[in-house]
Amino acid sequence: MNPILALNYEPSIEYLGNDDYYDVVAVADFPSHELRWRNDDVLVQFGLDPKSVSDADFIEAFGKFQGREPLMALRYHGYQFGHYNPQLGDGRGFLFGQVRALDGKLYDLGTKGTGPTPYSRGGDGRLTLKGGVREVLAAEMLHRMGVKTSRCLSLVETGEGLYRGDEPSPTRSSVMIRVQESHIRFGTFERLDFLGRRDLIGRLLDHVIEVYYPHLAGDADRYAMFYAELVQRVATLVAQWMAAGFCHAVLNTDNMAITGESFDYGPFAFIPTLDPSFTAAYFDNGGRYAYSNQATMCKWNLQMLQSPLKHVISSGDLEAGLEGYDEQYGRVYRTLMLAKLGFDLDFEAGDDVLARELLKKTIEFLHNSQVGYHEFFAQLAIEFRPEWRSDLSLILDNVEIVDVEIRVLFEQWRDLYFKMLNALPESDMESVGKCLNKCNPQTVIVRPVIESVWERIDQENDWGPFNELLQMIRG
Ligand code: AMP
Ligand code: MG
Repeated sequence: MNPILALNYEPSIEYLGNDDYYDVVAVADFPSHELRWRNDDVLVQFGLDPKSVSDADFIEAFGKFQGREPLMALRYHGYQFGHYNPQLGDGRGFLFGQVRALDGKLYDLGTKGTGPTPYSRGGDGRLTLKGGVREVLAAEMLHRMGVKTSRCLSLVETGEGLYRGDEPSPTRSSVMIRVQESHIRFGTFERLDFLGRRDLIGRLLDHVIEVYYPHLAGDADRYAMFYAELVQRVATLVAQWMAAGFCHAVLNTDNMAITGESFDYGPFAFIPTLDPSFTAAYFDNGGRYAYSNQATMCKWNLQMLQSPLKHVISSGDLEAGLEGYDEQYGRVYRTLMLAKLGFDLDFEAGDDVLARELLKKTIEFLHNSQVGYHEFFAQLAIEFRPEWRSDLSLILDNVEIVDVEIRVLFEQWRDLYFKMLNALPESDMESVGKCLNKCNPQTVIVRPVIESVWERIDQENDWGPFNELLQMIRG
């Protein structure tokens, strides 16, 4: 028996009782199946010994999709770039199954690139191999950086030539498996509201709470508490993206998970430098989802979610829930940025003036100098020595800055960094070094890194650099 097909599946969405949430679909008939990547880490989370799962098992389950049904294209709507679109739903994927993992949580196994569904809107239902490679890398990188994210479980090349406006075509095709807690989106609720199915909103909410917010189940106030907690989770997630220097690029409400986790990595990019206006999607002309707009846009999405939820939650409770957003975002962002500087402090409101000053100066320096965002922190991690605490001139002493104004900024930054080190006892210096290394990976997949890996796959079918990159990401 294929160990993947023998996993502990729990048809949770199907238990919702009728077919209001999905359409049963079939997988496309692909000319070939070549396993290009498998995520053994995730197998372990599901209690499987990777040695007991062969590549052929992966292809049977996640290339040919034999042995499980129904395959469910999920129904949802969403606000896309600010406009409501009732023509959405899984257009190139389906929910393959839901599995209870060793951590006790239920996870969705979803597909991307498995062929057309009733929601394809004229699209081919396919995923390019490059798109699959990019999503695998994004998820592993974000996971390494402590962001609550989906993971990819496998990538199978499927032997077709696809035509795309944003890749030299024909380009190779693939099918990817994505694992995350839930594929229920803000847009799943928006659809019920749009269709006038208020009767189902409370029911879906009960399901979401029971499965994904079980600590709230049974509380009379559970709906209001759910929304308040979702707000907190989303604010936390955006703060994690911002500190990681990540620009998601397509923050439509159909890409917002009801669990507050990050998923669906299309035209994403890690910022090369701290540029607030950095925009990752070439089609995002107005910069709606620019790097520094992410917090505002996700808050807007949470506000839009109030429309379906207002049928079961009072407007006062919804407002009160959303009120917590800015504070949580600011607190988590500051905490994470301080950790990138080596300081493992919980940044409560009204916290240390010096820490705030250092953060402000760090951001000013990164912004005005346009030095590499990830390189700066990676270098800090490599070069840090406890002696920096006793001699200011040792701090990043091999940095060369020609521009006078930037030099002044750097000196000011260095001064504050020195003071911050001295605000801690000498015995803490070791933990500063550890924190720097933990929070600042030496390898970050900015675009040229991904492109160079892709070039080798594209031109020589050489997967070595891709696998090496994943090794480096995982550390
Ligand atoms: P995304 O921007 O990737 O979240 O996709 C938005 C919507 O477009 C979803 O309903 C997708 O399933 C659908 N979609 C994206 N690409 C394709 C494609 N190649 N074929 C069919 N549907 C697609
Ligand atoms: Mg999507």
